[in-house]
Amino acid sequence: MTDKSQRRFFALLAMTLLGGCALLMPFQARQVDALQSRKPKFIFIFLADGAGITHLEITRMYNQLVYNEGLNITDRIFTEGSLGLMTTHSADRLVSDSAASATALANGCKAKNGWVGICADGSIPKSVLEIAKRRGMKIGLVTSAAVYDASPAAFSIHIHSRRLADEIVEAYLDYQPDLLMGGGRNRFLPKDRKEGRRKDYKDMIALFRNKGYAYVSTRQELMEVEGPKVLGLFSLADMGFEIDRDEGSEPSVFDMTQAAIRILQEGKGMGFVLFIENENIDTSAHLSDVAALIHEVREFDRAVGLAYEFYKKHPQETLILVTSDHETGGLALTGAARQIKFIGPVGRVLPSRESLKRIHSIRISIRRAARLLGRRPSSEDIDSLMAEHFKGFVLTAELREVLLKKKRLGPTFYSKATAAALGAMVAHNTQAYWIGRGHTNQPVFVGALGVGAERFRGYQDNTDFARHLFALLGEKRQQAEGSEQ
Ligand SMILES: [Zn+2]
Repeated sequence: MTDKSQRRFFALLAMTLLGGCALLMPFQARQVDALQSRKPKFIFIFLADGAGITHLEITRMYNQLVYNEGLNITDRIFTEGSLGLMTTHSADRLVSDSAASATALANGCKAKNGWVGICADGSIPKSVLEIAKRRGMKIGLVTSAAVYDASPAAFSIHIHSRRLADEIVEAYLDYQPDLLMGGGRNRFLPKDRKEGRRKDYKDMIALFRNKGYAYVSTRQELMEVEGPKVLGLFSLADMGFEIDRDEGSEPSVFDMTQAAIRILQEGKGMGFVLFIENENIDTSAHLSDVAALIHEVREFDRAVGLAYEFYKKHPQETLILVTSDHETGGLALTGAARQIKFIGPVGRVLPSRESLKRIHSIRISIRRAARLLGRRPSSEDIDSLMAEHFKGFVLTAELREVLLKKKRLGPTFYSKATAAALGAMVAHNTQAYWIGRGHTNQPVFVGALGVGAERFRGYQDNTDFARHLFALLGEKRQQAEGSEQ
């Protein structure tokens, strides 16, 4: 080819490509517009309270190596959908509590720790679930915590302190979600009733019944109950750990999700928003209890699997979101010296399949193990607990001393001395270590699959989560941070 013909060839090629792009661009723009304007009819919000990416990863590896199974959250939601990271800090702290972070996720503004559905400047925007209800969508609130706990509360009502449980229950009665399920019966019973923890004489269960709610309190009743409105209170306060659960009594997060999907689908309607929280991921992490934590994540993941099946049947109308409010405990598998006093490469033990097998051998929560030991355990009590529930695990002399004398193990808070020592013992034997017992500032994952999922991709602030949902619910007013609605 001569220089001239070469130039002519490249000029022609460029024109062809540009022409092609010009033809393509309006089509692509139309596609983007169409994608952006699509609105989900069925929205699942799965909140893994206290879960960081390592909580998921350790469960994913556990499922793979112990059961040869996958994990729905990573293998389906993250892989087939979109994946993002979100900041978690609150308005007044670098480390958030569940109230402030749920306020950010549900109301689109930063709040102070402890505040429920109220922005740091005192303004009270409508929450995602309030907007959805106004649109005629059904609302389901499901949690393994007491239903008056901070996260479900911040998604639906507004109050200055997460500790005002009686008032939160009354606010639910005004808000009237179609489904309200979890623990926390004690704050529905009047103070003169056995087990009642209310400060007044109101029978909140009766008041909910008067508003047309069917009331259930056992797994069996939940399986049989019919809507449209259901109040399910399955324990006095928080529901029990999955690892300790007697299958005949309390339902699991999976059971509650299954029932919720069944009931919310009854009759024709404008769709639903179903909020599902597993609080016990956070609670087990506060207790440095890796075995209980894995059982919780597995059960939560089975519930996500139900939403995934639903999505497969309604792919053009469904959005599944799986996220967390903050990480708890700073969990990681890591190498350590084989003996506490020995430092050097020879005596180092690194995490392996054996670590996961050891975790698998634990069939009791640390909370229950601590209760079995009681207030003043003898050395024999400790030996029999180790022999029965932690076979082959080593209890160092230092930790035995802590158990016998109830010594504090460093600057610990949240868990009692016995539970803290047992948590440290499990860590030494499984290589699953924790940097502490509180929440951390790690950014959290947000997985999204279905209609509008692409909005949640990338590195975002946790207030953006609510803003995307406002847009997907057709809320025209885009909220400025902390603005009054
Ligand atoms: Zn917590």
